[in-house]
Amino acid sequence: MAETLISHGTGVNHGDHTHDSIESVTECILGLKAKANDKDLPGFGGLIDDWFNPDMEVDEEQFVRRFLRVFKQSDKDFTYEDILKGYDDDIQGIVNQFVDGEIDASEAAKRYTPFTTLKVPKGVVQKRGLANIIPGERNILEEHTALLRALPTSIPSRIRGLIAKIAPSLKDPKEYLYIPSYKHLEFENHGRNIRYTPTITCVPNTAQDIAEIVKYAKNKKMGVRVSGFRHSWSPVFGSARNKNENKNGDILISTLGLVDASILPNFTSLPTDLFQPEAKDLNSIVFVTHEYVNGPALANGKRYVRVGTSTTNEQLRRWCVGTGKVTLPMQIIEAEITMGGSNATICHGAGLANATLSDLVRCIEYVDANGILRKVDLSTPGILRAAAGCFGLIGVVTHLVLEFDPMSCALMEPRKVPVVEAIPPPPDMKDSDIPAPLRPKTPLTKERKAEVQKDFEIRASTHDYAEWFWFPYSSEVWVNTWKKTSDLTGAVDYPTNVKTVLQVFGTIMVNVAQNASILLNLTQALPEVQTKLLTWLTMKNLDDIGKNGKKIKTWVPDAIHFQRGVQNLRVRDLEIEFPLQPRRFPVAAESSSTQPTASELAHEPQNMSTNTTPTTGIIAPASSPTIPKQEIDFTLVQRAWWDAILTCYQEIKTCPQRMPLEMRIMSGSDVTLAPQRGHRLGTCSIEILTLHNVADIWPAYAQKVLDKWSGYKDADGKPLPVRPHWAKEWYGYKMKGQPWQEVLKNELRLDGGFREEFAEWRSLIGQLAKRDGWRVEDAKKRFGNEALNTLVWSEPPAKLMNPGVAGFAGANGKVTDSISPTTNGSLVTTGPAKTNGHVNAGTANGNAGKGKIDPKRKHDRPLKRFLAKLKAAF
Ligand SMILES: Cc1cc2nc3c(=O)[nH]c(=O)nc-3n(C[C@H](O)[C@H](O)[C@H](O)COP(=O)(O)OP(=O)(O)OC[C@H]3O[C@@H](n4cnc5c(N)ncnc54)[C@H](O)[C@@H]3O)c2cc1C
Repeated sequence: MAETLISHGTGVNHGDHTHDSIESVTECILGLKAKANDKDLPGFGGLIDDWFNPDMEVDEEQFVRRFLRVFKQSDKDFTYEDILKGYDDDIQGIVNQFVDGEIDASEAAKRYTPFTTLKVPKGVVQKRGLANIIPGERNILEEHTALLRALPTSIPSRIRGLIAKIAPSLKDPKEYLYIPSYKHLEFENHGRNIRYTPTITCVPNTAQDIAEIVKYAKNKKMGVRVSGFRHSWSPVFGSARNKNENKNGDILISTLGLVDASILPNFTSLPTDLFQPEAKDLNSIVFVTHEYVNGPALANGKRYVRVGTSTTNEQLRRWCVGTGKVTLPMQIIEAEITMGGSNATICHGAGLANATLSDLVRCIEYVDANGILRKVDLSTPGILRAAAGCFGLIGVVTHLVLEFDPMSCALMEPRKVPVVEAIPPPPDMKDSDIPAPLRPKTPLTKERKAEVQKDFEIRASTHDYAEWFWFPYSSEVWVNTWKKTSDLTGAVDYPTNVKTVLQVFGTIMVNVAQNASILLNLTQALPEVQTKLLTWLTMKNLDDIGKNGKKIKTWVPDAIHFQRGVQNLRVRDLEIEFPLQPRRFPVAAESSSTQPTASELAHEPQNMSTNTTPTTGIIAPASSPTIPKQEIDFTLVQRAWWDAILTCYQEIKTCPQRMPLEMRIMSGSDVTLAPQRGHRLGTCSIEILTLHNVADIWPAYAQKVLDKWSGYKDADGKPLPVRPHWAKEWYGYKMKGQPWQEVLKNELRLDGGFREEFAEWRSLIGQLAKRDGWRVEDAKKRFGNEALNTLVWSEPPAKLMNPGVAGFAGANGKVTDSISPTTNGSLVTTGPAKTNGHVNAGTANGNAGKGKIDPKRKHDRPLKRFLAKLKAAF
């Protein structure tokens, strides 16, 4: 049991700490219980009583069952039935039996395996062969997809093709020879903030299928964009260009079948193969040799692994644990993410030694603008760094080769820790500024403060994985940091099959809790109470081994993907990355002029990592720090954390933030377009999330938090540069009063922009185009979209065009179906800070009104030097 209630009136004992908690989550739940009528919600009050009764044991399984049973038995509320309706009949049966107590969680986990035929959730759009005809046009589905040419890269297709040939009565051969495609199928992302209708949606199986699709697009002058699980929020998807433009619209390549990609709930993380996407070339996983990547042979158990880009994290996790005996050193938490999607948007995990996923890429196979399969490998490491993580702008990536570590184990030590003791408030924050429910009843002593500060710093700087979660208004933070060991003995699966099922059922529970009208009435639709109820339910599901508890030893891939099923909750998400800062020591007066500045210490020299010919022939470890880790000053990390908490409390009336604040410590990156690029000491990656159902009040709130996060100064008084996670929300937000996308395009790295990086990227990709025989202009048309072309491809300073991304909701949460000058009138030059078509570089630093970029600006010099160097080199 997580929290133990000692006294209801004066304070609540949270294990080893006490709060004056009139408004604590616990008190709030008890208040809710007092209002609940047992006739309307049978068993609800009893469940809460039992949960807080130290003499009663209510384990996670019982809790989930009893909570769901309350709503199943209620004859006043039908949310349980409504939510369950979205599930397959068999799943409904299993959930109902579990809730009725006829089977336990372990049996529920087993029950998924007996099915042998592929069953899909209801409401599914995909049926093989259905909608395969595109009237009046050359139909790629009616034509042979050059299966023979696909053979070398598509073994599963070949096998299926053979079956089709040998035993046509068993399977309709067409099913395997044609690329399933759908006309005018609406696309919507997971966060529901991007919607548009591509002309054709294709679901290829092989690299060769993709080549065929791109060739078709070339003939028809169509654009091609790709989607995986559609979990990104930024304008990285396609566009219809024009609402009425059916002939020259875009093709969307969905690397996953449409069921996997667009239907929630999604069960791919359940402990069965039943819900796994079908095996195909695009999700194959194999070892390759160092010759394949044109790189050095690896030692000490490291291996090169080639993965198809539609491979999901769950498939890779299973392969690593079950087959490969290797692991990525870090990964995205979410199991339902494709390798193509996470590489394209330069995703990351946690740990000061770990950079981004794209930093591990050693070879990229892509289909270029002419529909030809190409490869970029370690023979051109600079180009590889530019091609790894570029939003699909060079083409459709079919396979990646990544450098894997030998399998190791994580020694997990998840803890729920009082908020003030997890990430201490920054030194200048007064105790009285801490929100009352989070304030310890007895202020921490100086010694205790020093102790918790040290504990936080050690976790942040020495643990292999370092992550903190705060669910709104909780008095505790979930601290998830761990170290690795190469000793594999005694490792257990994590989460266990039972826990996985409970995590997935837990998402049903949270969905019931946020939608149940009876709870809305009970809480008088008070956002605060609703939010605290969700916090209580979600925190409850997280493990806590206790102060001196036994660490959980599990495989690293299991520890990384510790939470399953979370994608079944639709969320919004804004994340920034900022460089960790050096600790400053008193400097002797005579030497002070030669001391490096704080930003120099925090960043690589401007053009250091643009060297494209490393001597080793392999990509160097990302931004290897030259300063000992203990010299990192975490004050700004702590400030960012607490500013987000304080803002959350300021907005308690409406509670725009209903999901956690999350913070991870990671390294810098060497990938050309990575927001963590050049962070010499490492990166603070901090994000806020909410539920989709408060999307209307979210952007203003997220902007408020962003304003705080972008207002910090380094030790020399220079503004701290913050940059966004590319897959998350940034488009339409303001950075210091300017449209963020304009700041990203026009400003230098130290001012929070990518100006040098975009220039470098264009130059490197120009070389790639030359080498591989395609034209940049064609790539722009074929693989770009309005927002990305404006941001990345076009030169600054440029006339800023409002990208007007089709169907992109921007920060205001409103989705328009398509762009056209008539629908939003916005395809015109914008840019409030411009007088001359140049972006006012000074505005990001508050120097509004100065017009052109000041040529004497210190940051411009390295850029010029760098550009000159590039020009000379190429
Ligand atoms: C619940 C949740 C948890 C998350 N956790 C993390 C996290 O821990 N760390 C983190 O960094 N991010 C995280 N993210 C963000 C997520 O990793 C990214 O949004 C990722 O891009 C999603 O992958 P996807 O398969 O859904 O790709 P999509 O969102 O469908 O696609 C994203 C982009 O990838 C491009 N793309 C995809 N495949 C290809 C291809 N084959 N060739 C060329 N381009 C391609 C698409 O064109 C598109 O631009 C999380 C998101 C969610 C919803």
